[in-house]
Amino acid sequence: MEGCIFCRIINKDIPARIVHEDDEILAFEDVNPKAPVHILIIPKEHIASLDDLPKDREPLLGRILTKARAIAAERGIAKSGYRIVLNTGPDSGQDVFHIHFHLLGGRGMAWPPG
Ligand code: 5GP
Ligand code: ZN
Repeated sequence: MEGCIFCRIINKDIPARIVHEDDEILAFEDVNPKAPVHILIIPKEHIASLDDLPKDREPLLGRILTKARAIAAERGIAKSGYRIVLNTGPDSGQDVFHIHFHLLGGRGMAWPPG
């Protein structure tokens, strides 16, 4: 979608450190990492947020989570643990309106989140 920064990354209009790419999913390093491992995992299809997810795209979320788990294992944080975050809407702090999962790990994390 025009004007969407993550669609521009998918289209290689702007650079990113890509971790994984297939027909429907892209994973790349967050430009402003909040943990030693901070990777964003997104569908190539532009979907603004979880709240905008069409019913028939539900299986895509499972595939993204399974990919997050594989990346966590590759990065050596499967045993120490990791957090997956899906910010949705204004109160969550969602800044980029192309649905994305944050994979965070490599340090202990507080609960509840801020
Ligand atoms: P949100 O707050 O929407 O859940 O998270 C958006 C995330 O995207 C932030 O962690 C931010 O650092 C990251 N981000 C924003 N713009 C870019 C960019 O151009 N490249 C990369 N790699 N990450 C970005
Ligand atoms: Zn987009």
